[in-house]
Amino acid sequence: MMVHNPLYNDFAAFLKQHFTCKVQKISINAGFTCPNRDGSKGQGGCTYCNNQTFNPEYCHTDKSVRTQLEEGKRFFSYKYPDMKYLAYFQAYTNTYGELQELKNKYLEALQTEDVVGLVIGTRPDCMPDELLNYLEELNKQHFLLVEYGIESTNDQTLIRINRGHTFAETVDAIERTASRGILTGGHVILGLPGESPEEIVSQAGTLSRLPLTTLKLHQLQLIRGTRMAYEYYKNPEEFHLFGVDEYIDLVIDYVEHLRPDIVLERFISQSPKKLLIAPTGD
Ligand code: SF4
Repeated sequence: MMVHNPLYNDFAAFLKQHFTCKVQKISINAGFTCPNRDGSKGQGGCTYCNNQTFNPEYCHTDKSVRTQLEEGKRFFSYKYPDMKYLAYFQAYTNTYGELQELKNKYLEALQTEDVVGLVIGTRPDCMPDELLNYLEELNKQHFLLVEYGIESTNDQTLIRINRGHTFAETVDAIERTASRGILTGGHVILGLPGESPEEIVSQAGTLSRLPLTTLKLHQLQLIRGTRMAYEYYKNPEEFHLFGVDEYIDLVIDYVEHLRPDIVLERFISQSPKKLLIAPTGD
């Protein structure tokens, strides 16, 4: 008999541990904003950010959470009629708002038929204890994963990309969330300006000491209209854009330095071609 012996913990296997049925994430744009854009934490946003790259066709702000989920379900259920769904609050900062507004949107998602849980993407500096109290209760009834944009463990890099928070704030948010028994994930960008391959790989060790359950990796992408794209045109020598083989080697090295039980959800990201300047993978 063939024994499946994966080299890392993948997200599909992780979902199987939590659900007996097939489960698919549906991205939604719940109409939140971002404190790094509206001036409360910063202005202009992270230098690489163009939120248009987050959103699939069915995901528009003028549609309710329920409508987006129903449209997402139609998209997937055509192929898998018995599929269940996780509402993925992906665009912008999905814990940034009045507590009641946040509760209403999360509950609207959970009350949509066939939705069996939530994945909430947010910034590390946007998780007040009051909201965590609520999420801790929600987590007792439903599947919940909170996913933080970590991007880098290096404060110099975080300043350079205008993240508007420090790595200490990331550590604090992840520890407070996981200590409530809530599954806690992170997202990092490999290849940010100023970080050498050795520096990037050393960050895997730093992250492994945190109580993270899941992690997403993606390569730096230069997106049209972003501040980083402008910086690249002005000073391309400050950027190292990894070729495909070089990036694969970097990811292998990175994963080898990660805690082996961390569930890896993705290794690359694909922004729409019309928005992507580089790398194109051609
Ligand atoms: S990447 Fe996220 S935190 Fe940064 S500006 Fe864009 S929406 Fe805000």
